[in-house]
Amino acid sequence: MDMIKLADEIIGGKRLSREDDLTFFFDFDNCNLQNLCEGADKIRKELCGNHVDLCTIINGRSGRCGENCKFCAQSAHNCTGIEEYDFLDEDKIVEDCQKHVRQGVHRYSIVTAGRNLSGEAFDKAISAYKRMDKECDIELCASHGLLTQEQFNKLHESGVKMYHSNIETSKRNFPNICTTHTYEDKIRNIKYAQNAGFSVCSGGIIGMGETWEDRLDMAISLSELKVASIPINALMPIKGTPFENLERISSDDILRTVAMFRYINPTAYIRLAAGRNLMPECGKSAFVSGANATITGDMLTTSGNNIEQDKKMLDTMGFDISKKSKF
Ligand code: SF4
Repeated sequence: MDMIKLADEIIGGKRLSREDDLTFFFDFDNCNLQNLCEGADKIRKELCGNHVDLCTIINGRSGRCGENCKFCAQSAHNCTGIEEYDFLDEDKIVEDCQKHVRQGVHRYSIVTAGRNLSGEAFDKAISAYKRMDKECDIELCASHGLLTQEQFNKLHESGVKMYHSNIETSKRNFPNICTTHTYEDKIRNIKYAQNAGFSVCSGGIIGMGETWEDRLDMAISLSELKVASIPINALMPIKGTPFENLERISSDDILRTVAMFRYINPTAYIRLAAGRNLMPECGKSAFVSGANATITGDMLTTSGNNIEQDKKMLDTMGFDISKKSKF
């Protein structure tokens, strides 16, 4: 397979779909990783430009989640000893957001553990978003699980532009990672968010025992859902979760996944998330293999990367990390 030719066709308007045979992406004998990454980088350059989008998150409510996601430190079904707390104080959130504005981060999101956010905690989130919208020069994102259409409408009115809701894996593999909610719940949630006017940030985690077909299916599903941003996490197995003994995914497999996602989602943000540190030099090679966004700062439960180091690395690589957003 000539990957540069395919990249040129995608730049010219071709789009890959479920009807195409795309198994060549993981035909290791005939799809050379270096060529695949070169083609992905070409697509990124031509269709997305040179800007890298930087986001950060605050864990607004931690632990005691009733859902049973097998990868997650915050599930009450898993014994991880994670710190547990209710919705954070508004001043603390706004102060943290302002700190990230000063550090040049482009997006800020409150993330909360739990199936959803409701009642007093939801009202507190709305109040915090309204204040940040007024006081902080930053794009606001949110991640609060499965919301109702009415809640999405209210959240959108508070100044939040992007909603995060991972599909996590393929439809086939989803019951292997969680049984307290379904893949269909996730899809409905994304559609509600889009109905309310949100751009959607949705991706998943690789290295949870899925096949390459599952990863391909996830990439195609996200393209069909027209999501704006696709976070790719590599599982960092956490002690006390059912996945604690899974082998860590290789750096080459992360790169192949990132590149494949770029061919299938040529104009989306392909966002590096947890597990970047499984790659040499904090995932530097992924930024020339299709990635054009990243979570930075201190991430939820897996070690993240220092914002200044990320900015320096990206600047040295010739990327534009000034404030600029297409969503
Ligand atoms: S719903 Fe969210 S917080 Fe709860 S276990 Fe699943 S991933 Fe973790």
